[in-house]
Amino acid sequence: MSAVRRVSVFGATGSIGENTVDLIARAPEAYNVVALTGGRNVARLAEQAKVLNADLAVTAFEECYADLAAHLEGSGIEVAAGQAAIADAADRPTDWAMSAIVGAAGLVPGLRTLRHGGILALANKESLVTAGPYLLAEAKRHGATILPVDSEHSAVFQALVGEDSAAVERVIITASGGAFRDWPLERLSEATLAEACSHPNWDMGQRITIDSASLFNKAMELIETKEFFGFTSDQIETVIHPESLIHALVGFRDGALMAHLGPHDMRHAIGYALHWPERGHVPVDRLDLAAIGSLNFRTADPERYPALTLARYVMETGGLSGAAFNAAKEAALDAFIGGKIGFLDMARLVETVLERLAGDNSLKCDKLTLDRVLDMDHVARKIAQTIVDGDRLRQSGAS
Ligand code: NAD
Ligand code: MG
Repeated sequence: MSAVRRVSVFGATGSIGENTVDLIARAPEAYNVVALTGGRNVARLAEQAKVLNADLAVTAFEECYADLAAHLEGSGIEVAAGQAAIADAADRPTDWAMSAIVGAAGLVPGLRTLRHGGILALANKESLVTAGPYLLAEAKRHGATILPVDSEHSAVFQALVGEDSAAVERVIITASGGAFRDWPLERLSEATLAEACSHPNWDMGQRITIDSASLFNKAMELIETKEFFGFTSDQIETVIHPESLIHALVGFRDGALMAHLGPHDMRHAIGYALHWPERGHVPVDRLDLAAIGSLNFRTADPERYPALTLARYVMETGGLSGAAFNAAKEAALDAFIGGKIGFLDMARLVETVLERLAGDNSLKCDKLTLDRVLDMDHVARKIAQTIVDGDRLRQSGAS
């Protein structure tokens, strides 16, 4: 791949964003950086923009504009702020864009990059969970390519190269089990924020780390697998694999199981997407199998991880259930981070929101549109918020 490629990174200052910037910065002659976006850490965003000589730097928050502009004064780099400015940045043509904003806020910028074709490297799992069929249809309509960057989905994608997906019997997404995998079930209700924030294997953003402890992250990934690859809920399994070295396995009808292994370093999946369809050099540690010695697996118990049962419900229900699930989960996570609800209340809250919306027949939808997804996001967050504010989970004796 010799031509200089135009690239943008949405969520450049986050965990995935930093790893993406690291790979791009190693070969500056190969890339023309169009836009970098970030949040409140404008000093870091400005530093990245200078190192990569980006055309434009955008902070998500309007109140951070002056600070970002001050950091970039005299650099010749354009500055903008706000959600609309991020979406506008996504309209600037690129050959490759990284979607690494956290949460449902990543959906619109990702969709806007699809409009000009090229490759969208998708780390933002919320896009597929909330609006999978719409996102894929938009990519097709505009001739854009979406490449998965979640490590499990990159692994499945790689295992499927050259294969007929009709020959696939099952897909197994591994789960580390998160911070509490060895805790007794009865202790989980007391789990604190600090305890939920320490992941045994991966160094990631705070929200996905907590989601890993509750297995909401795995629940999202099951839904992502269904949406991206088109497998059914029955074909998609998960297993606890404490070493997190096998990211996913694909089982074929002749009984073969193809496993993908790699170190705990997201630069592998990002690098695969960056160099695709070639395999470029990626500076991650190489696995020393003899030093690792053994790999372990155990059942992911749905009683311990109710998020997995909720994911099954979403995969089987379709329609707007993914948008409702994600919004309720984001609201539950905010409430847990804010000390308003306990660790186990998060799954109860999501379940209550889904039950209420299903009861109103609001999850059904034959054809997803962006407006419908955003409306459901709003409604589900509001229901979750009302429950949290009224502390109705506790009053109803649910916790
Ligand atoms: P992070 O919290 O480390 O970074 C998030 C980025 O998004 C930051 O640049 C932040 O400034 C920006 N951001 C936050 N809120 C925003 C908003 N409202 N509008 C615009 N920008 C905003 O998150 P992360 O761990 O890098 O994860 C990013 C995405 O990738 C998530 O969807 C996550 O689930 C997914 N993912 C992450 C990992 C990982 O290893 N970290 C692995 C697989 C998938
Ligand atoms: Mg993952």
